[in-house]
Amino acid sequence: MNELLRALGLEAAALAEGELCVVSPIDGRTLARLPMQGAPEVAAAVSAAQRAFLEWRGVPAPRRGELVRLFGEELRAHKDPLGRLVTLETGKILQEGLGEVQEMIDICDFALGLSRQLYGLTMASERPGHRMMETWHPLGVVGVISAFNFPAAVWAWNAALALVCGDPVVWKPSEKTPLTALACRALFERAAARFGQAPANLVQVVVGGREAGMALVDHPGVALVSATGSTRMGREVGPRVAARFGRCLLELGGNNAMIVAPSADLDLAVRAILFSAVGTAGQRCTTLRRLIVHRDVADALLVRLKQAWASVRVGNPLEAGTLVGPLIDRHAFERMQAVIARLAAAGARITGGERMLAEAFPDAWYVRPCIAEVDAQGAEMHEETFAPLLYALRYDTLEEAIALHNDVPQGLSSCIFTNDLREAEAFLSSSGSDCGIANVNIGPSGAEIGGAFGGEKETGGGRESGSDSWRSYMRRATNTVNYSRELPLAQGIRFENV
Ligand code: NAD
Repeated sequence: MNELLRALGLEAAALAEGELCVVSPIDGRTLARLPMQGAPEVAAAVSAAQRAFLEWRGVPAPRRGELVRLFGEELRAHKDPLGRLVTLETGKILQEGLGEVQEMIDICDFALGLSRQLYGLTMASERPGHRMMETWHPLGVVGVISAFNFPAAVWAWNAALALVCGDPVVWKPSEKTPLTALACRALFERAAARFGQAPANLVQVVVGGREAGMALVDHPGVALVSATGSTRMGREVGPRVAARFGRCLLELGGNNAMIVAPSADLDLAVRAILFSAVGTAGQRCTTLRRLIVHRDVADALLVRLKQAWASVRVGNPLEAGTLVGPLIDRHAFERMQAVIARLAAAGARITGGERMLAEAFPDAWYVRPCIAEVDAQGAEMHEETFAPLLYALRYDTLEEAIALHNDVPQGLSSCIFTNDLREAEAFLSSSGSDCGIANVNIGPSGAEIGGAFGGEKETGGGRESGSDSWRSYMRRATNTVNYSRELPLAQGIRFENV
């Protein structure tokens, strides 16, 4: 562990004291102890970031992109230790830990290109001798609040874009994964040193819990609060930011579904379902939670899924061959068990879901992924249970399937498996899926960085990462220039003193 931290520019000795105990979900062992920070540290960080902003906003965007390029180089060089640290802190398998770092590298590449493309439109003016256009300017300090399950990539989506847009970042990571955040900051500082002209405090980390998060949310010096986590958290954050007229980008819980139609390629569907439902031990915002399968293919599909569920290797996420690591903590395990007990009492047919490896890892929470076959979409299915628990429900008509699909409060990711063009297009149409992400013959999880990521309804409405998400990190100015010798007013208004 000490070597791993050293490779990432951290000293274990400096991470040994404080009231926050950082625990690995792999075996329950303590990885580090850190002081909990709160409102005073947030206030100091925001002031320092405001000073950095005054300098950074004047640096040409392509130069800002160069810093992000150098950060991407540091990530490439440290992909292995950073991926391992992600695995140690979150319990996701090493392949996914490394994948998370790759996602950071990808967004750095994207942001570098973007740094030469932060352009606005030119509009036709109704007045002769006038030109109208929009320009995009740096916004100010960006506060990032992140969840435990993507302890680095989600921050990188925000930070890479914010930095090329001219904004410093104050990051409040999950209290469950602060080491990954400190390592990212240390790697960023290396890139900044190589860059040579970056102002101090462009990227800062405040280690703390809900209180530190609230201080960031309430601080009038934070222009944009980008918060990723549960809908419960978003419900607290959204109104507080709105009350001070701040900008808010919310990436909250999902309750993602797949419709499997009669024409679906079941081989593809089984592989997609396995990855999306049990990958990351069901702890992705885009995890597949509801399987809505046509009655004609349901039995055949469920037989294959139950075989896959029984044979999937659950265990130490650092070992090759493991596909499912532990849940993040005891609380997550107990929540999953409580939901399974309620489902069983209501008549659901339950496969799996039991605790595993309790002898080898008494302080960790491994489970066999669970399938719950239900006859109707009950109350449990309207909530996000953050665990590998897949509901299976049968349907008869596509209209019924789409209605079931949309009948939940969340709206993040969705997909249909079909070889029928009409069904695929209906699912993607305005009367189809109501989610921010809708796919055909691809599972709901594992998005690429090139598209805008986020969802509707209780998922919060935010969009991050690709496409034009960068606009959230800038302010728009509409400019009208008069190069004539007259002063015509818009709408033809005459206002003359005769
Ligand atoms: P969480 O809501 O418990 O915590 C997320 C972050 O918010 C943490 O940093 C926490 O300290 C902070 N926080 C909590 N209450 C706060 C408050 N009142 N004010 C300010 N900050 C506060 O979530 P979690 O358990 O870490 O993560 C799992 C959840 O995150 C799931 O619901 C998952 O779907 C969601 N998630 C969503 C996305 C997305 O892009 N939509 C991505 C990853 C995770």
